[in-house]
This record gives sequence, C-alpha cells and structure tokens, in this order.
Amino acid sequence: MDGGLPFHAHRGYLRDMAGAMERQAAGHGAGGLLGAVGYRLKETASGAPQTPEAQADEALETHEPETPLCCSRCGHPVTRVRHRIAVNGRHSHTRANPYGFVYHFGCFAQADGCTVDGPPTEEETWFPGFRWQVAHCAACRTHLGWAFRGEGSFFGLLLDRLTLPS
Ligand SMILES: [Zn+2]
Repeated sequence: MDGGLPFHAHRGYLRDMAGAMERQAAGHGAGGLLGAVGYRLKETASGAPQTPEAQADEALETHEPETPLCCSRCGHPVTRVRHRIAVNGRHSHTRANPYGFVYHFGCFAQADGCTVDGPPTEEETWFPGFRWQVAHCAACRTHLGWAFRGEGSFFGLLLDRLTLPS
C-alpha cells in the first residue's frame, strides 16, 4: 500500500462530498431543488388544494384538530392537525429532487411556525402551476419543507421532521 493517500485524508474528502450533497438537498445549492421532470406524477386534478372532504390520509386522524405538530428537532409548534389538506387528492406525497433525494411530505394549509426563504420559483416544481420556496423552522432553522403558491397556497412539510408534543 505504498504511495496511496493517507486513509484519513481520503475519508475526510468523502465526508466533505457528502456534506455538500446534503447542503444542496436542503435547498442551499444552486438551481432547482424540486423534482426532475421524470418524477412528476401524471395527475388529472387542477393542482389546486382540495376541500377537506377530499383528505385522504390516515396517520393523524385520531388526533384532535387543534393538536400541534412540532419541529422534531427543537419542539417549536409548526402547524396543527386541522391544517392538513389534500392536494391532487392526497395529503401525503413522495417526490425526489434532481439529486435523487426522496422526500415524503404532507400538505398543510398553514404552517405559522415556518419561515420561508428565497424568491418563489417555478423551476422543477413538483406541482405544476405552483411556485415554491424553502420552508424552515422559525425557531431552529431546520429545513422542514416548502411553501407552494399558485391558485391558493399550501405547505409541503416533511413528515419525519414533525412530531406530536411530548
Ligand atoms: Zn425547530
């Protein structure tokens, strides 16, 4: 093994590469964050948020409507169970960004505990007709999802970054 890179140097390089990819995935890289064309679902709905009657999902339906959903990192209240909505007929969606990172998120009419950053863009959007911005926890700045604006507006929040109050 003469003449090779010192192992610790090589390992550090890989770690830096991984960090750069994560930063890009968290919305700090250049260009479009949201899904590549190939990942867009063929959906027939108008793209507008639908009525509560159209809500599809299961997981939170046993909780009181006022129950807060909190940032899983710092506990800051982000939204509430009653703000859940369906978009294109579903509350939860799974999409990938151009870097191949897969995100599972739920749609919410409001998320007062989020701050949004950057100019709204339609580039690589997951919801045709909707522009998006990155949404962070207002308290600890963790990336929680995205705000979408088109005919109406909603938040797509990463379900594994939300938690019930402890
Ligand atoms: Zn937080």
